[in-house]
Formats: sequence, structure tokens, C-alpha cells
Amino acid sequence: MEKTTEGVALKSSVVDVLSYIADRGILKPKFNPEYGYYYEIPGSSLDRETLMELLDELASEGYLDRRLYFKPVRCPSCRSYDVSVFYVCPYCGSRDFEKQVLVEHIPCGYIGTIESFQRNGGTRCPRCRVEVKPETLRKVGVWFRCMNCDRASPNLTPMHLCKRCGLEFTLNDADFDVIYTYRITRLGERRLIDERAIHRPLADVFKEHGYVPEARSRIRGVSGVAHTLSMLFRDSSGSKVGIVFIPADKKIGVENVVKFVSEITDLEIPLIFVTPRELDDNVKKLANYYNVKIVSSSDPEELKNKIRELLSKDVLRHVGSVT
Ligand SMILES: [Zn+2]
Ligand SMILES: [Zn+2]
Ligand SMILES: [Zn+2]
Repeated sequence: MEKTTEGVALKSSVVDVLSYIADRGILKPKFNPEYGYYYEIPGSSLDRETLMELLDELASEGYLDRRLYFKPVRCPSCRSYDVSVFYVCPYCGSRDFEKQVLVEHIPCGYIGTIESFQRNGGTRCPRCRVEVKPETLRKVGVWFRCMNCDRASPNLTPMHLCKRCGLEFTLNDADFDVIYTYRITRLGERRLIDERAIHRPLADVFKEHGYVPEARSRIRGVSGVAHTLSMLFRDSSGSKVGIVFIPADKKIGVENVVKFVSEITDLEIPLIFVTPRELDDNVKKLANYYNVKIVSSSDPEELKNKIRELLSKDVLRHVGSVT
């Protein structure tokens, strides 16, 4: 059995989301009458909005394939998704109608409602008067007969009833939203394998230095922007260190180093950037200048050693600032 802290250590919002979708093949929305359509990753610490944000982010970065699921109706007045559909007569608007199944008597071609064959006790064709056998009847369509104006029509007009505010509205007045499904892409599968692989070695090496993992891995900086951390650790004094995973499909350029500095400033937490990919020399130079710690390694032991070095030298104190 895994200890609780280790269980938490292996939790990351990105890994949670990608592995859940990979296991199930597809993520579809759930429905709640109170707040509408939402997604759920069981066991994840993300709230509904943050998860939605992360799904969109992963889709725009190519790790998830986002596809239209359907366009649900929303109440034009209170915006609720909790809407019932009912039908009315297209001529007089009455809600009282009868659905009639039309059948054809194949031998003579007579078409009528199923009831028209069953009059006068037996089942005789109203036209050719022959006793009707079930195999000589064919369903040809459906009619709706209005109980108010008595007209029949192949279609009814849909109407909507908002169950929250009670408004009745037509199709023309309806509002629509867009709901998506998510599937993992090849790139997403690659990222999942690589990002999962760093979790155990990192959890071990941080534990050696008295850190425990935090469950929260998507946090807002002072600017209000949400940052996705692969892992977040805290020591007994409460100081934190975040791990940001840069997937192999992303090449770290000098412009990224500057972005990393602003991320560190925004979160006010020292961050270590981990990537399986080799770094260019100019990136290494700039990272040194800004004191940004980028660990490039695809080997768990090497990764542990590099992180161990950072943790034991207490270099994280000055991370992200020119010294
Ligand atoms: Zn009618
Ligand atoms: Zn007939
Ligand atoms: Zn409403």
C-alpha cells in the first residue's frame, strides 16, 4: 500500500486529466440542473471552472482533441440549461395532439391509420375489404392530429419550457451553447508517459529533503493568471517549491526563459523546470543569468541527482532573480 503522502505526490492535474481521458477513451460532460454541463475527473482537486480552463488549455496545446458534442438549448431569460421540450400544433398552437401511425395495405395500396383497419370488430382493409394479415401491412409514416383544430401534420412545432424560471419560448427565441468532448492525442499520450515518469523520482528526492507534496497543482499567481504545476512541494517551515514540466514536444527557447522568470515572480514560489529535452547553449546561458533552474534529463537517476544538487545547495532561494 502506498502511503497517503506518496499517493498525493503522484497527483498532478495534467497527469490526472490526461490519464483519465486516456483510460476511458473520451471525456463527455455531465449534467446538473443547477449549473448545467460540466466535466468531472474523479479524485482530482480541480474545481469545475479550473478543470474547464485546463481542458481548453490542453486542447489548444494539442494534447487533447476537442470535438463538438452538441449544442444544448439555454433559456434566453435566466440562461438555465434545465429546459424541457414539448410540441404544439403548427396551425393553432394547441398542445393537445394525437400521434397516429400510418400503414399501407400492400396488396391494394390503401394508406390509413392503424385504427382505420381495426374498425367494425375485425381487421379488414377499408378499401378492398380483405381480411388483413400483419405481414401485408407496412408502416409508411407518422401523422400528428391536432385535437383542437383537427388538422393533421407530419411535423409539430417544438416549444421549450425553462424549468428554472418557467419561461416558455420558441426555437427562434432559444439560446444555444456549445458542448465538447475530449480525447487524448498522440502528443498527449507522449506527454502523459514522460510527465508520469518524473513523479516518482521527484517525490523521492524531495522527501529526502523534508518536503511533502501538496495536492494543489494549478494555482493562481498575484496577477490572477492560473499556472499549471506538475508538482508542488512544501517543507516543514512552509516554504514551497514547484515543478513545471515542459513536454518533449516543446523546445525551450530564450523567450521561454523570460516567461519562466515572470511565472516565478507571479507565483512567488521558486520553480524548477523539468524537461526530457536537451537545452541549447544560449538557453542555458540565459537561464544562468536569471537564475532559472531548468533540469534537462530523461533518466530518472540523473534527474534525481540534479534535483538533489539544487535542494542541498539552497540555491532555490534566489531563483528567478539576477544575482
Ligand atoms: Zn391545431
Ligand atoms: Zn386493401
Ligand atoms: Zn429560465
